[in-house]
Amino acid sequence: MARYKVALIGLYNYKVLGVRYLTSMLQERGFHCDLICFKNFESGNMKKPSEKEYEYILNLLRDLKPDVIGLSVMSSLYLEVPRELTRRIRASVGPDTPIIWGGVYPTLFPAESLDYADWVLRGESEEALVELVEHLERGENPRHLLNLAYRQDGQTVVNDVRPLENNLDVLPFPALGGNNIYYINHDRLYHGDPQINTHTYEMTCSRGCPFVCSYCSSLSLKKLYRGKGKFVRLRSVDNVMQELKQAKQKMKRMRMVLFWDEIFPDDLDWVKEFAARYKQEINLPFQIWGHPLRINQEIIDILVGVGLSQVVIGIQSGSPRIRKQVFFRKESQEEIIEMTRVLAQAKVPEVIYDFILDHPFESEEDFRLTLELCEQLHRPFTLQLHGLSFLPGTEIVNLAIKQGVVTQAEMDRLQNLPLEEQYRSMYWFYGNERVNYRRSQYWINLIYYTQFPRLYKLIKPIATRTKLLENNALPFRLLRKACNYFLFGRRVVKKLSWMYG
Ligand code: SF4
Repeated sequence: MARYKVALIGLYNYKVLGVRYLTSMLQERGFHCDLICFKNFESGNMKKPSEKEYEYILNLLRDLKPDVIGLSVMSSLYLEVPRELTRRIRASVGPDTPIIWGGVYPTLFPAESLDYADWVLRGESEEALVELVEHLERGENPRHLLNLAYRQDGQTVVNDVRPLENNLDVLPFPALGGNNIYYINHDRLYHGDPQINTHTYEMTCSRGCPFVCSYCSSLSLKKLYRGKGKFVRLRSVDNVMQELKQAKQKMKRMRMVLFWDEIFPDDLDWVKEFAARYKQEINLPFQIWGHPLRINQEIIDILVGVGLSQVVIGIQSGSPRIRKQVFFRKESQEEIIEMTRVLAQAKVPEVIYDFILDHPFESEEDFRLTLELCEQLHRPFTLQLHGLSFLPGTEIVNLAIKQGVVTQAEMDRLQNLPLEEQYRSMYWFYGNERVNYRRSQYWINLIYYTQFPRLYKLIKPIATRTKLLENNALPFRLLRKACNYFLFGRRVVKKLSWMYG
């Protein structure tokens, strides 16, 4: 008997690492699985799917005739798209085809997700998805399955999650290449894996994060998995190398590796083994994410020696009050400054520090402390200044409502804004009633210019003696634009030189 056919849909990211893992897992267990990458993340140009794009995906699903359809639903940012897509699939592909939602949002909000999906899978679901599809294929009732949530007589039933897979090496590598992958974007349908002709390969060496930042879903996931095994798990170096070698062989243009671990492994023995083999077997520049409390001179020196080209680190605020009481981050000013010294000494080619600014918890004093900290960070560095996103299910949402800095009604409005507006609130600033607009512009601009030390020396006296920066006067607007272009150009040149130099 032909096995069940599954179609998995990843939204707004054609690299969809999690969905690629699920695709491989289903294939390994004998199912035919098509992967549809619907839209891509395009910084500065986030748009809802067009009617033509909806038409493409619905026609494609009608042609593929899957027995089961799965959607990966990450966060509120794209929520209106899976809702709309699910409605359209039911209406025009087939009301009887079971639709499964998985991902962070359904994990934290199974009841809301079941307003759209027939089944919800919570948490890490490679094994759970296989079991669910097997049950559906055999016509058996899957309701006892771990990780599953469903509706029964109008009531939401949420089953427990299974223990975390401790040995990540047992998972197949994420799907890469093959004619079962489709990509829809810019009003076009492409048959084939869009990743295969790109220059960068994205992967992880671990799962889980040891930290509990209030604005991140990691904390809620950690609570979900309490008592279910180690939350932070590491793959063996050999397993990582096998995946990289396979990717290098399939992606003829691969020039760089992006490690998407929440925090790149900092186990010294693991790093030593990784470095020795990476240099010999892969030898490509790579990028990592780090954390101020996990940056260690010996490890960074080793990684720079084998191709580390960029580190991104969240500092988020220069105010100890904001960091500790609002963001639940433990690092001190001294530890942050020391971390920047280590990175500067190791001569990491590009160091990027993330800050979350101009949110409703922040006072003018907090802005001042952030500026003061930025002045003390060891250079060179690039700054990424963001607004604060209130992601559903994160602790900061409860904190904001409890402290009365955002009302429940306003929070609901924010989390249900159209895609374009949610994107803007993530990358631009939310606005802050404690600090008026002009003053916040003043502080944000000054903080921004600390990444250009010579320019900053010139600008700071002008900014403090005049209202030019506060009023965002034309010369400053033009200067900021020029600096943004400079940063963009510098990043492109650096990337090209790492990849082809
Ligand atoms: S360090 Fe990053 S991944 Fe970890 S909890 Fe904080 S924001 Fe989330």
